[in-house]
Amino acid sequence: MSDPCSRRTFLKGVSLLPWAGAAAAALSGTKSRAADESAAASSNVPLTIDGHVHVWKKDPQFPWAAETKNPPDRDATAEQLIELMKSAGVSRTVIIQVIHYRWDNRYAASVLKRYPQYFRGVARVNPEDPAAPDHLSRLTEQDGFHGVRISPSGEASGDWFHGPLMPPLWQRCRDLKVPMTVLAPISRMPDVMRLADQFPDLTIVVDHMADCPLNQPKELEKLLALRRFPKLFVKISHTWTLSAQPYPYLDSQEQVRRLYDAFGPKRLIAGTDWPLVEKFCTYGQAVDIARQRIAFLSPEDRRWICGLTALQVWPFAGLGGTSA
Ligand SMILES: [Zn+2]
Repeated sequence: MSDPCSRRTFLKGVSLLPWAGAAAAALSGTKSRAADESAAASSNVPLTIDGHVHVWKKDPQFPWAAETKNPPDRDATAEQLIELMKSAGVSRTVIIQVIHYRWDNRYAASVLKRYPQYFRGVARVNPEDPAAPDHLSRLTEQDGFHGVRISPSGEASGDWFHGPLMPPLWQRCRDLKVPMTVLAPISRMPDVMRLADQFPDLTIVVDHMADCPLNQPKELEKLLALRRFPKLFVKISHTWTLSAQPYPYLDSQEQVRRLYDAFGPKRLIAGTDWPLVEKFCTYGQAVDIARQRIAFLSPEDRRWICGLTALQVWPFAGLGGTSA
């Protein structure tokens, strides 16, 4: 992708799709792309893509990782998610490999294989394994994933995020043309900058506004400083965990506003973090935060943040998009 803000490159297959009549057509799961487009053309409802969900299933075929001492007591399957998507008018989602399986991405891979019309997937690899880049190649080329997520802790020195295994993994992402997703506290954003400087061609996604506490607005500058990387995107999720208020978490909107002012709508991505979000609100409510509840966004802003921006990072079957 040469220019992340160029609509021409990736709107080719999408220009008639915006907002979700696309959803209805696409969710049928059986209609052709032409049928999708024609259904969407008659709708004014925008395309909605959920940029962040997790799926898992208690199933001997997909055992939890040995490190998972307290596995979830309920399933969060792809089939449950598809039902929720249908009811909320969400046409596509990005599945992030859940930590309960650690580096065993097989359940998510099976979901990608069964439902390519709905999902894109982001894998996990062990960042302390020198073979991680090769695992990422296999996950990308054979298992259908599009990108990897790493999760450095808040400890700012001496960990693997500073170590010699990071540049090869970031470079492999760049070579594979898939995005690098980073889940990390705001304190680690200077480290993200150091790596981003080494790989200016790499698409990078920062999860959940780096979970910057709302009562530490100065800290957010560490994330705002990353605006100078044109291929760096930010998910505006976790308003619910950061907020001290009930739904729709209005006290979080100033932080979203500052990110909007810095990055613009074409580099912000909405996501629900289902099923974890259900501790705070329903899936449909979470989708509606960016789609309806953030008052300062224009309809065009919402089109990008709730759908079109995600297409720049994760091209979806039937929707065009550019490879990251
Ligand atoms: Zn999550």
